[in-house]
Amino acid sequence: MNVGVVGAGYVGLVAAACFAESGNDVICNDNDPQKVENLKKGIIPIYEPGLEELFRTNTAADRLTFTTDIAQTVHGSEVIFIAVGTPQDQDGSADLRYVLEVAALIGKHMNGPKIVVNKSTVPVHTADLVREEIAKHTDIAFDVVSNPEFLKEGSAIDDFMKPDRVVIGTDSVEAAEVMRELYAPFVRTNNPILVTDNKSAEVIKYAANAMLATKISFMNEVANLCEAVGADVNQVRKGVGADSRIGPNFLFPGVGYGGSCFPKDIRALVRTGKQHDMDLEIVSAVDRVNNNQKKRLVQKIIDQYGSAEAIRGKTFALWGLAFKPRTDDMREAPSVTVVRELAKLGAKVQAYDPEAVDVAKRIFGADIPITYCESSYEALEGADALIIVTEWNEFRRPNFNKLTATLKDPIIFDGRNLFEPATMRRLGFTYHSVGRKVVTP
Ligand code: NAD
Repeated sequence: MNVGVVGAGYVGLVAAACFAESGNDVICNDNDPQKVENLKKGIIPIYEPGLEELFRTNTAADRLTFTTDIAQTVHGSEVIFIAVGTPQDQDGSADLRYVLEVAALIGKHMNGPKIVVNKSTVPVHTADLVREEIAKHTDIAFDVVSNPEFLKEGSAIDDFMKPDRVVIGTDSVEAAEVMRELYAPFVRTNNPILVTDNKSAEVIKYAANAMLATKISFMNEVANLCEAVGADVNQVRKGVGADSRIGPNFLFPGVGYGGSCFPKDIRALVRTGKQHDMDLEIVSAVDRVNNNQKKRLVQKIIDQYGSAEAIRGKTFALWGLAFKPRTDDMREAPSVTVVRELAKLGAKVQAYDPEAVDVAKRIFGADIPITYCESSYEALEGADALIIVTEWNEFRRPNFNKLTATLKDPIIFDGRNLFEPATMRRLGFTYHSVGRKVVTP
């Protein structure tokens, strides 16, 4: 099949590579000339495990090509995916500017019947808006399919190749058939392809993300309660998750969720509710709880040193910048809140992240007192204490002797519960984690 993908970001690039890997001819379009130039030279703009290999094989086989030319993309494709960003607008809603821009361009360049697929996360009714936008520019028949994407950064290729489910929102039997054919190689283990109407498909994506974010904020609140009453959230988590109606996944407390999806999607859903005179109270609370959770780690640091003033002049080693492991994405990452709050208090940060340092440099610029280190141990040199915000595997089994020898004081603020408190006490650390008692040597 000839497939066009507009938007060469996390979703577009992964989708393009995976569709090419299953034998389709894929033309991937982006309006960022530098990005396309780099892709043509073989420079991949994001870090995603497994992407490079698919990229190399399929570009070498000419099944995957890149262009900034939207006319060429539309002309050469039977199915065109829109995978551009839908960032948060000022009022919290999803900004559909880029999606509708692409829809208009597709309309202008239509040269035959097409299936236009919304892969971007878009609020309910967007398929109608896309349809209207395309129809302004053409009389040629087309279908608009809502096909939300559920991949997770860090395991995006795997998720795309083996999805739990594929959601296809359309009222066209023919379009549904083409989409089934396109996705057939990825659901060979019989994971379902759910064909729904457009609106239901659009709601599924937001409801799924809201449910996942709810689990996280819920467990963060439970963790905070555990701290207050002296319980251990790890034991509580296991006890709660063993109930088959609840399940063990997504119950890990931490420093709050971040990333390019949950925060903005939760707010967009609240906004959609408002537009329909509904207060989505649970979803609103999930966002509030998360914002507070991101600041809680800094409060623990202040408490450790006795006052906000006592933080001035201190240096903290920071392990992890990305919003989660195996990605370089830092959009709404808890690390951003932690670094900015510490900067406000007059502290310096020495940060290490295996992938996200370049992204961090762009985010923090020169105004924030942050030094980027080449290794986790380098970040400890001359630091008063260690803060952990991302659970990269390489942080899970550090050489604790090196930690005690390098840090000025053996103090760790762990936002991801990587270590056992009892072990940390034995090793001589003051150890703050989430939802468990602070231990001191
Ligand atoms: P991204 O910012 O990484 O990529 C978007 C790309 O679109 C950029 O390269 C940008 O240059 C390009 N673009 C913007 N306007 C364009 C235009 N007019 N023509 C061509 N290209 C254009 O975004 P992303 O993370 O890939 O997300 C894309 C969509 O998928 C969003 O709606 C997001 O919510 C959704 N989504 C993201 C994830 C994820 O984990 N990142 C998962 C599921 C769904």
